[in-house]
Amino acid sequence: MSVCVECPTGSGLAAEDASAEPIACFEDLACCTICGEGDWEDDNQIIFCDSCDLAVHQVCYGAGARNIPQGDEPWYCDVCKAHPRRANGRHSTNSRPACILCPNRDGALKRTTDGRWAHIMCALWVPGVQFLDAEGRDIIHPYGINHERLGLLCSICKKQHGACIQCKAPRCLTAFHATCARMKGFHMVERERDDYVALEAYCEKHRPASTQKKKRRKRDIKW
Ligand SMILES: [Zn+2]
Ligand SMILES: [Zn+2]
Ligand SMILES: [Zn+2]
Ligand SMILES: [Zn+2]
Ligand SMILES: [Zn+2]
Repeated sequence: MSVCVECPTGSGLAAEDASAEPIACFEDLACCTICGEGDWEDDNQIIFCDSCDLAVHQVCYGAGARNIPQGDEPWYCDVCKAHPRRANGRHSTNSRPACILCPNRDGALKRTTDGRWAHIMCALWVPGVQFLDAEGRDIIHPYGINHERLGLLCSICKKQHGACIQCKAPRCLTAFHATCARMKGFHMVERERDDYVALEAYCEKHRPASTQKKKRRKRDIKW
């Protein structure tokens, strides 16, 4: 498993092994691509895929990330497990499977009920999508996506592909893919309600005034 020597995520673990090349991740890479947060706990660390550098919280990723590999054992995300890279290097982005809910290929994808792939993030954000294994966030089932949602054009990537979500501001119809919105740094929040968690995203125009856009380095934004 690769660990960062510069951020708290893996402080010094790689450096302890003299033969291991110390690896420093970019600040942004240390944020979980699913929830966007960089905080972590001992029992919910941010782990990195040794093939595609995906960074996820153990709990956010669910099944497949519950146990941290010991020592030099690598950890691979489900996509990399299913599509091992060739001996001569990494995947090219195009060899990664497409998400059925958005046009973006990087990120944390899990299998769908029909054997295709979808982002955990898309499954969480798009209404009408569920996980058959809810706790493991596995086996994504797009059972009830509203047909009108499938026809929405993303205001960010300008593509009509998969399913968009819409700005939460009253009467704003701006549509975007959840992953596009995360990459663009839109305001995306979880709100605890009585018996569920509401996910709310806002377009750039309706970003609540109190929230400063997080400073992010341009190249490194992953979600
Ligand atoms: Zn997370
Ligand atoms: Zn991977
Ligand atoms: Zn997606
Ligand atoms: Zn988009
Ligand atoms: Zn809006």
